[in-house]
Order: sequence, then C-alpha cells, then structure tokens
Amino acid sequence: MTVSDYKKILKVIKNKNGKIAKYNKYNVPKARKCGTSTHKCCICLRTGGHVGKYGLSLCRHCFRENAQRLGFKKFN
Ligand SMILES: [Zn+2]
Repeated sequence: MTVSDYKKILKVIKNKNGKIAKYNKYNVPKARKCGTSTHKCCICLRTGGHVGKYGLSLCRHCFRENAQRLGFKKFN
C-alpha cells in the first residue's frame, strides 16, 4: 500500500503495538537537511514549484493567487 503521508497507516494499525514498532523502524522517512522535500509551501505544503525569493517560501500556485496582495505587479 502506498500513501502520501506515512502517518496515515498508523491510524489503521493503532492497536497493534508490534506492528507499530516495526513500521516505525523501517518505514519512517529519513529526516532531510537539503533537497526539494525541505522546501515546502507555507500555505498548502506543496514541494514543487517553490518560490523562495524575497523569503516568500510559497509554491507557484499560492504565489499567483496572493501576488497582488503582497504588492507584486504584472507587466503585461
Ligand atoms: Zn502553496
């Protein structure tokens, strides 16, 4: 079974302590210090299309929705 968030499985096996220990030992993702998975959008938590310029930390979708409110102008 594949899931987007590894913690969803813990709800299914919440009463099986042996399985929880085994799951945590082998399936918890590594804590990363660099790479695309460390740059998450602060609104929707997407990792792709990240805009980190000016300390925004938004994805391209959220940047497009909020650009005018933030003071950006479109030049066309
Ligand atoms: Zn976003």
